[in-house]
Amino acid sequence: MTTAIRIDGKAKAAEMSEKIAADTALLKAEHDLTPGLAVVIIGEDPASQIYVRNKKKRAESCGFYSVQHSLAEDTSQEEILRLIDELNNDASIHGILVQLPLPGHLDEQQITQSISPAKDVDGFHFVNIGKLTSGRTADAFVPCTPAGCMLMIEDHLGADLSGLSAVVVGRSNIVGKPMASLLLQANATVTVTHSRTKDLAGVVRRADIVVAAVGRANMIERDWVKPGAVVIDVGINRIESTVDGETKSRLTGDVDFESVSEVAKAITPVPGGVGPMTIVMLMSNTLRAAR
Ligand code: NAP
Repeated sequence: MTTAIRIDGKAKAAEMSEKIAADTALLKAEHDLTPGLAVVIIGEDPASQIYVRNKKKRAESCGFYSVQHSLAEDTSQEEILRLIDELNNDASIHGILVQLPLPGHLDEQQITQSISPAKDVDGFHFVNIGKLTSGRTADAFVPCTPAGCMLMIEDHLGADLSGLSAVVVGRSNIVGKPMASLLLQANATVTVTHSRTKDLAGVVRRADIVVAAVGRANMIERDWVKPGAVVIDVGINRIESTVDGETKSRLTGDVDFESVSEVAKAITPVPGGVGPMTIVMLMSNTLRAAR
């Protein structure tokens, strides 16, 4: 029985963060320019509060100017659009992020599309999506989660995935679809699967690269995975377990880490895999926006 390499996203993100901090210091020294990141959060969603706090902490550790706009749950669409307009025109801000999901009364698409494509460090603007899907990646802000996944895949398989088959489980606009575009651009043969896919296990079993972005705890098990595959687990699921009569909650991915580790070549843990890479890619996009 082999044991997969545990892909340490936390360590890679820390390393990248140091490089971003050094580049930021250089930008300040040579051009008197500090990258500025504005994060807008609406409402009290506890998971979103944690994500935003982590993004702010990382931005500060990179030496960025970081501002947070925390708005009440009942903030109107017009107020948010007004704030984004101000940020679009604020020369000290180079990256704008609106934390998703938004409260139900808001029009998410209108809000994400109101961010200037040049400050769209989440990569959700149609201009950036268009550049990504038409192969102009060097010119685009690529969504942070798939961009981070791609770097980890490259570490294990190289930048050219010619001849390899990749299966993406999940077709969301923020993970599954941009992930598929990046893999395709790296010459992988890509299959995108979703809730209507027939024989999902059989499809996943053919993959040399599996990216799981579903939101279902431990769905992908050992016998779904081809021996030697590289497995990237994007899922973040909170589950409860009872140990010695005490109920505790913990995070787990979409992949059953223990059993899949017995067959995969390399696998990301949850937490400590994709999550930290997502945040550092946001910093990387913000530095690029400032430059
Ligand atoms: P999403 O928008 O809810 O999309 C989930 C996708 O999974 C959909 O395409 C859905 O198919 C598919 N799906 C649902 N049930 C399925 C099933 N039984 N079999 C096959 N496919 C199924 O989610 P998301 O925003 O992409 O996020 C996915 C997961 O990644 C979540 O756990 C989220 O918390 C996590 N996430 C993590 C990070 C990070 O930084 N680590 C970043 C973003 C998201 P349909 O399209 O047919 O409904």
